[in-house]
Amino acid sequence: MRFAFSLSLAMLLLSGLGNPALADTRVNAARVWPAPEYTRLTLESAAPIRYSLSTIGNPDRVVLDLEGVEHGAELESMPARIHPDDPYIRALRIGRFKPTVLRLVLDLKTEVQPQAFVLKPVGDYGYRLVLDVYPLVPPDPLMALLDEHGRGTATPSQPDPGAGSGSAQPLGKTAATSTVARKERPEVARLITIAIDPGHGGEDPGAVSRGGTHEKDITLAIARKLKAKIDREPNMRAALTREGDYFISLPMRLEKARQVHADLFVSVHADAFIKPHARGSSVFALSESGATSAAARWLAKKENEADLIGGVNLDVKDLYLKRTLLDLSQTATINDSLRLGREVLSEIGGVNHLHKNEVEQAGFAVLKSPDIPSILVETAFISNPEEEKKLKNAAYQDKLADAILAGIKRYFANNPPLSRSRMVLLE
Ligand SMILES: [Zn+2]
Repeated sequence: MRFAFSLSLAMLLLSGLGNPALADTRVNAARVWPAPEYTRLTLESAAPIRYSLSTIGNPDRVVLDLEGVEHGAELESMPARIHPDDPYIRALRIGRFKPTVLRLVLDLKTEVQPQAFVLKPVGDYGYRLVLDVYPLVPPDPLMALLDEHGRGTATPSQPDPGAGSGSAQPLGKTAATSTVARKERPEVARLITIAIDPGHGGEDPGAVSRGGTHEKDITLAIARKLKAKIDREPNMRAALTREGDYFISLPMRLEKARQVHADLFVSVHADAFIKPHARGSSVFALSESGATSAAARWLAKKENEADLIGGVNLDVKDLYLKRTLLDLSQTATINDSLRLGREVLSEIGGVNHLHKNEVEQAGFAVLKSPDIPSILVETAFISNPEEEKKLKNAAYQDKLADAILAGIKRYFANNPPLSRSRMVLLE
C-alpha cells in the first residue's frame, strides 16, 4: 500500500512538473514547418514540456515521448499537418505510450538526424518544444545553384563587347576584359552570384502590421522577384537563403552565402518602427564601432533578436559562430558594403520616399560576413498603413526589386568583380 501510494505520488509529481496542483500540460499550439534544409515541429505550451527523443531503425522512425502532456485538439491535429511533400517525414502518429507519456512517432522518408530542445517564452510565444529533423547529409546550396543553372552547360554568352563600351552595359565590359586578359586559358565566364536573404521566416514572423501582414511574407515575395530578375541577367545568378516560410538562423544565412561563393549579400526587410508614422526606405551596412543613429541601433538590436524568436538550438548556433565570427578586420568589406548601399539607396529613392538620404550603419549580425559586401534593405515600414498597402502590392514589390537590381548593377559598373581576389569559375 505504502509503495503504491508513493508511486502514484511520484507519477503525479512527474505529470505536474513538480507541482501536484497542476493538471497535465496542454499544448496550446502545434506547428509544422517543412523545408528543404530541415523540417521543424513546434509544440507551444504554458509550462515547459519534459521529453525524451530517440530514433528507431528498420524502418527509420523518430520517437518523441512527452511527459505529462494532455492529448488535446492541437496535438490531435498534428498528423494532418504533415505535408505529403515533406522532404523527411512520411507520417506522424500519436498515442498514449504509458499512463503519463504521450508518444509521437515520425515515420520517415529517409534517414535523419533529429534534434529536440526547449525554448523559453519570448515575444508572443510561451514555452516551445522544438523538434528539428535534419537529413544525415545536408543539402549543398552550391550544387543546388549549379543544378538550377544547368551545370557545365551554363557558360553564359558573352555580351556584345561593343555594347560594353557604354555605361548602359557595364557588366558586359567587365566580362569582355576578362576574356582578353585570360586568353591563354579556356574561355570562362565570371558569373556574379548574389545571395538574397528574405528576412525572418517560420516561427519568426518579423514585424506584424495592425492588419496582420507578416514581414516574413513580404520579404520572401520581394526576394523571389529580385532573384528572378537577377537570374535573367546574362552574367548573374542569385541564391535565396530561404526558399519558403521556414526559419533560418542568422549565422546560417551567412554560411549559405559563403557556401554559394556569393559576391554580395542583400538582406530584405520591411520592419515596424517605434513610431507608427515612420515611413520610407532605408539601407544599412555593418558598423564595427557603434551605430550611426539611435534608430539604426534600435533596429539592429531588434533584427539580432530574430534567432531568439525563430528559435535556435544553442549548440548548433555556437558551431556556426565559431566559423563566422573570425577576428578579421572587416573595414575593406564595409567600405564595399557602403558603396553598394549608396547605389541601391539612390535607386530606391526613385521608387519610395527615403527614410534617410545616406546609408546607415549598425551592428547587424546578418551583415557580418568578413569578405562579402553585405547590405540590409528596409524596403518600407510595415507599421505604416500606407506603406503596408504598397508592400503587399505585387507591382510595387516589382519596382523595389528593379531598384535593388539597378543598384547592384551600378555597383558592379564602378567596382568590377574581377578586382576581387576570389574568383568563381564555372567550367
Ligand atoms: Zn526585419
